Parts: sequence; structure tokens; C-alpha cells
Amino acid sequence: MELLSDRVLNMSTSATLAMAAKARELKAEGKDIISLSLGEPDFNTPDFIKNAAIKAINENYNTYTPVDGYVELKEAIITKFKRDNGLHYTLPQIVVSTGAKQSLANVAAVMINPGDEVILPCPYWVSYSDIVELNEGVPVEVKTTIDTDFKMTAEQLEAAITPKTKMIWYSSPCNPSGSVYSKEELRALADVLQKHPNIFVVSDEIYEHINFVGQHASMAQFPDMYDRTVTVNGVSKAFAMTGWRIGFIGAPAFIARACNKMQGQITSGANCIAQRAVITAMEASPSTVQYMVDEFKVRRDLVLDLLNKIEGFNTNTPEGAFYVFPDISSYFGKTLRGTKINNATDFSLYLLGEALVATVTGEAFGNPNCIRLSYAASQEQIKEAIKRIKQAVS
Ligand code: PMP
Ligand code: GLU
Repeated sequence: MELLSDRVLNMSTSATLAMAAKARELKAEGKDIISLSLGEPDFNTPDFIKNAAIKAINENYNTYTPVDGYVELKEAIITKFKRDNGLHYTLPQIVVSTGAKQSLANVAAVMINPGDEVILPCPYWVSYSDIVELNEGVPVEVKTTIDTDFKMTAEQLEAAITPKTKMIWYSSPCNPSGSVYSKEELRALADVLQKHPNIFVVSDEIYEHINFVGQHASMAQFPDMYDRTVTVNGVSKAFAMTGWRIGFIGAPAFIARACNKMQGQITSGANCIAQRAVITAMEASPSTVQYMVDEFKVRRDLVLDLLNKIEGFNTNTPEGAFYVFPDISSYFGKTLRGTKINNATDFSLYLLGEALVATVTGEAFGNPNCIRLSYAASQEQIKEAIKRIKQAVS
């Protein structure tokens, strides 16, 4: 008998985390690896947040918290939603979790029945398809290309809907393409959904503040979508707090209640010290972290400038997040220094072996023509990495 469950055996390993682990391993062996694989800000958590955590430890916050989060934190999140997004949520609509990843896993677990279809505009963040499949849902990939800035159009959405469609999941700003849906583009998708009142939307807004074009738009801002949208957000990216593991949702109360029940059997709620610290992050103006956004924009411009000088790299202009997702399919079928490149995975592994630069294959994001580079790295590292890539492919 197989010792492990089919559930875990059928699941793929997170490609982003696997590549990051591989890069770490090679570094430990003494190889001079530059990792552009993991989507993790290279800044320190701001001092005012660290100090709030230290205060919480000294004030003996050490017990289980309410499963769905401290009331003070949920109130601060309500204030944040109102201030930044014009969204009005009440306490029973907020659930704090161990990272936005758990928020997404909760929503999938409480919403998906076997066979339910979840529309995923491609490229999508790696974990979406596996989280859906883990819950016996069926990911329905909607392919987009660089020509539409990797965004799903209303026509594509319409064509993907079937009687089994349960939800649509997307991130904006998008990991991995950096695309940002404008309010008009979201409205066009919402118009399609008007004809399908039972379809829910999961709007992953974790890169909300890392936006180089200005106004962030949320699906739940449309009154006709509010009651069927789950807004997912967290502090990992904007506040450089990946390891603190706090994410949250604003959702219709019945979904929030179900997530609370689910989480109560699985984690008993998120870490108490991290929650206390995040209260201060939520209360702070987004301008306190603008310096990171400004630096990401400088790096975005640098990466685009350098990549566009390499033949065979075709990029869109990411408007947010900290990734660039070049189409490198012109290399398929070619042999580089004795290595035949058949697909994006071959290309990404070739760059790791030959240029000592870690990237992530687009296959993990549902787009086999691209690779993802995270520019959450210093300008020096970016310059050196792209210099090495250029040499390796020339
Ligand atoms: N959504 C997207 C689009 C992401 O890139 C990430 C990155 N980890 C997450 C959700 C999860 O974030 P976390 O669990 O760190 O809050
Ligand atoms: N979201 C980041 C990434 O895409 C972190 C890794 C992960 O959670 O998968 O690289």
C-alpha cells in the first residue's frame, strides 16, 4: 500500500519555494548564485513594526488569539480597507490567517466541491492551481499573452464559463506578470459576471501598494460584486514581512464564518506577536513604505532596460509587484553551449547552471513560454545577474 496519500502525491511542489531552496543549497556549496527566484522583498521590516512586536512580547502576549484574529487587528484591517480601497467591511467579515496563502487555502476549502471549476487567468501565481486541485476543484486556465499585457479579456472570461464555474481567482498587481487591472478592465469582467450571479471572485491584492501606475482597483468596489468577492491581502510584500506570516480576507460574512471554522480545526489562528505588530502596520499610512515602492520602480526600469538589450527576451512593462515575465520561447529548439533548450524549464535550469542565476520557469505559472525574474534584489545583483544571463545566451 502507498504510504502517502494520493492528495499529496498528486500535488506539485511549490516551484518558487523549490527554486529558492535549490539556490540556497548551491550557495551553501560555495557557488556564487544570484537568486532572482523568490518573491520576497529584500528590505528589513520597518522599525515601527518591529518595535510593536517587541512591546507585545514584553506585555506578555503569549496565548492563543481568537481564531479569526484579535478584534483590534480586525478593526485596524477594516480601517485599512476603508482608507485604501473604499471598502466597507464589518468585524464578522474579516479573518486573519497565517499568510495570504492560508487565506486562499481557507477560501478554497470552504467554497470548492469536487468538480467545481475555478477560472484562473494565466499566468497565475503558482499555488492557485494546486490549492484548487487539493480541494478537488478543476482549474480552468485562460491563456493570455504578452500582447494583451497578460490580462484576461471579458470575451475570454465569457468563453471559459460553464455551468460548473464556481469562482475566478486572479491577482492584481499580478504575480508573475506585474500586470495591473484598471477599474474599467475589472468592470468589463464584472459585466460578464452579471449574467452569472452564482460565480464568486477571489481578488488577491497582496501587491496592492507595489503599484507604479497609481490607483489600485478592487473588484469589491463595485456594489454589484461586493457580495460575491473575497478580497485577499496581507503584509508580506508591502511591509517586507514575509516571515511574519500574516494575511487576511474581507469577505461576505458566510464565507468568513466558514473560514473561521476551517482555521479553528487547522491552525487555531495566526501568531499572536505578529498580529499585534500588524495592527501598527495597518494603522500606518501607505506612504510609510513608499520608499520601497520607489526603489522597486527604479529596479523595474533597470531590469527592463537590460533585458530588452538581450536578443530573444520579449517583455511587457510590469505596472506593479516586483516581477518581470519575459517570453523566451524564441530559444526553444536551439542549443546553447551544448544544452538543447526545449522549454522554459530547460531555459531556467540552463541559466542556473551556466549563469548561476536562479529564476522560475513559467510552466509553474501556467505559461510555458516565459520565465519569471524577481527584482526584489539589489541593483548591483540585478546588473550582474543580467550580465551573466546575456553572456550565457549569446
Ligand atoms: N498571493 C500572491 C499573488 C503571492 O505572490 C503570494 C506570495 N507569497 C501570496 C499570495 C502569499 O503571501 P503570504 O502567504 O506570504 O501572505
Ligand atoms: N509569493 C512569493 C513568490 O511567488 C513567495 C513564494 C511562495 O510563497 O510561493 O515567489
